[in-house]
Amino acid sequence: MTPEIVVWLVRDTCRLADNPALQRASRLAKSIGARLVPLACLEPRRWAGEQFGLPRIGEHWARFRAETLQSLRNDLSGRGCGLWISAEEPVSALVRARQKYRVRAVISDAPLGTEERLEMERIQAEDFQSEVVYADELFRLEQLPFDLIDLPATFSKFRKVVEKKTEIFPDPPQSIPDLTLSLEQPWADPSELIGPLRSQISPETEVRTIGGEASALRHWQAYLATRALSHYKVTRNALCGPTQSSHLSAWLAHGCISPRQVWSDILDYERTEGANESTYWLRFELLWRDFFRWYSRACDWTLFRRRGPNNKDAGGDHNRRRFAVWSAGNTGCDIVDAAMRELNQTGWMSNRARQLVASHLVYESNLDWRLGAAYFESRLVDFDVASNWGNWAYIAGVGPDPRGGRIFNLNEQAGRYDPDQTYRRRWLQ
Ligand SMILES: Cc1cc2nc3c(=O)[nH]c(=O)nc-3n(C[C@H](O)[C@H](O)[C@H](O)COP(=O)(O)OP(=O)(O)OC[C@H]3O[C@@H](n4cnc5c(N)ncnc54)[C@H](O)[C@@H]3O)c2cc1C
Repeated sequence: MTPEIVVWLVRDTCRLADNPALQRASRLAKSIGARLVPLACLEPRRWAGEQFGLPRIGEHWARFRAETLQSLRNDLSGRGCGLWISAEEPVSALVRARQKYRVRAVISDAPLGTEERLEMERIQAEDFQSEVVYADELFRLEQLPFDLIDLPATFSKFRKVVEKKTEIFPDPPQSIPDLTLSLEQPWADPSELIGPLRSQISPETEVRTIGGEASALRHWQAYLATRALSHYKVTRNALCGPTQSSHLSAWLAHGCISPRQVWSDILDYERTEGANESTYWLRFELLWRDFFRWYSRACDWTLFRRRGPNNKDAGGDHNRRRFAVWSAGNTGCDIVDAAMRELNQTGWMSNRARQLVASHLVYESNLDWRLGAAYFESRLVDFDVASNWGNWAYIAGVGPDPRGGRIFNLNEQAGRYDPDQTYRRRWLQ
């Protein structure tokens, strides 16, 4: 008899704990007597694709994702379950799986960008019964007091609506469901696919980020233990420092830790260590993340056009020389050059530095903002489509900024955030 399976399509929520998509898939598999199959695909569209001549996935993100998948596979196998890894697009992998198994359902985290949405449509067009679950947001869609199409136009409005209603509160984190599976991976040994990606680079970061759920939790617990959260609001704009901000972004972007877990731990911290503006402010930043996720879904393909979701004129061209100068960190503006070199070497830079280099690209290098977004996509270890393209559109004035774009006075910012030039000296030497 053909074995029956329910596929948990692992997209960007690569963890076992507090994962409503996995919960749903596991429950469904149990209720219909099918086996649960976690499937991760190294989609060629992402892994081999280019935009504006830049790779879609860069070495930092690839290294982190490879570590994450390896860690997920270990965690699953510790529970008697496997992880199928395919080098194909999900739809091709599923069609191939169908030759050997009866695929009863495909459960996945909800698409974030246009490509992910189209991919889900292709899966449905192949007659797979599919379901998407909002697995990586603070709130469920049903909790939001507006339809996605009526999403408040700015973050402030979104935050006020959400904070005013007491019933809009992140669900408590869920535990790991029972998992059992003894089906064989029908394709290549996953280590053949992801192994070579693993140790391509060893980033010289202040915070060593290693992909995976266990290292996410270790990092987050260690951050909480420093009590840096109690002065997060004061330090978050600094350009460097191991605890100047939480450094959680890569783990959040690859779904190694759930935002609801972080939220709930902050509330616990507030109960034991005391609540203040800083402890609130990390939750405030998680709300920004959520806002951009809903914004990306609401705007769909318009987020990627030059005129952005606001359909506004945006200046800038595609001059190759100016772009090469900006991306290599050779503009002559030392704060921008230092930040770009940090990004190139480590895959990370602080939020303030991201704002400054984006401002330079749009308003001083006079380049199309999408070149900057594409460059970040290819370099950031924590790239996520909603936060990256949303923030770039915001700064370029074609996104959700009520002030119509952000131009920074770079000399003034350098003096304020790097008064003794420590940061610039470190990256410009
Ligand atoms: C041009 C530009 C591009 C960006 N691209 C990305 C990206 O691809 N991926 C990404 O995760 N963040 C992106 N950010 C947001 C932000 O810069 C990073 O999340 C943050 O610097 C990561 O450091 P941290 O984890 O220490 O942040 P913390 O200050 O400790 O914040 C905690 C978490 O809140 C979220 N967060 C904080 N600020 C923002 C923000 N402005 N927008 C959305 N979420 C936020 C992140 O998940 C972050 O990890 C971008 C910002 C700008 C200005």
